[in-house]
Amino acid sequence: MLEVKDLHVCVEEDPSEKILKGVNLTIGKGEIHAIMGPNGSGKSTLSKVVAGHEAYEVTQGDILFEGESILDLDPDERAHKGLFLAFQYPVEVPGVTNKTLLRQAYNTIAKEQGREELDPIEFEDYINERLNVVDMKPEFLDRSVNAGFSGGEKKRNEIFQMAVLNPKLSFLDETDSGLDIDALKIVANGINQIADEEKSVVMVTHYQRILDYIQPDHVHVMLDGKVVKSGDKDLALKLEEQGYDWLTDLASVSV
Ligand code: ADP
Ligand code: MG
Ligand code: MG
Repeated sequence: MLEVKDLHVCVEEDPSEKILKGVNLTIGKGEIHAIMGPNGSGKSTLSKVVAGHEAYEVTQGDILFEGESILDLDPDERAHKGLFLAFQYPVEVPGVTNKTLLRQAYNTIAKEQGREELDPIEFEDYINERLNVVDMKPEFLDRSVNAGFSGGEKKRNEIFQMAVLNPKLSFLDETDSGLDIDALKIVANGINQIADEEKSVVMVTHYQRILDYIQPDHVHVMLDGKVVKSGDKDLALKLEEQGYDWLTDLASVSV
């Protein structure tokens, strides 16, 4: 599904500022991956570079989605291919309702992928069914995108967008931060349902907490711009107990 190969990235404005220093990562179909690591290790940068954020420049390596390089594609084109990137700070779009935005986005993606577009009535049925994934009330659909949403509602809305848009691969950056326990369970439950539908999910998270509710197939640790360790869910538990210090020696070993 996604292959990140020896990815080196610097800041567009300042090429001496190297942030990713050779990231390797392979995400298979229907797999849930967790990327963990201390603040500043490059997790969000990796998510943004996969999304095609213009602030960063890839100086070496490649990102393949379904076997093809996506480096030359702009963020919209990546989304049309089936990538979904939820950001750490979701934006507000006052004046545009959730429903309108989602139908436009859904149909653009469907058209691009040769799937059937939905008219307003068909979309109404579809979106109402998808509300169940995150236990969302129908009133939500007619509110402006993210405007006046609480932090928890924004995160929940992100998962809802993911449930509606049906992406092949989703990167969720800190979707768990700032959620109370009930919202966390709903979000985790939504992610589990989506992964069951054979979609791949990458959760970028600083904390182990959400992994109490979601069983990742693979856990990776980033330190200083590299993936220094990969394992299964036991790795996340070990990090919870022991922190990241025991891994710091690995960061200085060049891969
Ligand atoms: P994480 O998400 O793991 O906390 P980030 O990817 O946000 O880490 O940041 C990794 C490092 O790259 C940090 O030192 C951060 O300050 C730096 N960085 C990220 N984006 C930029 C940018 N646009 N300009 C300058 N430095 C950046
Ligand atoms: Mg699975
Ligand atoms: Mg981050």
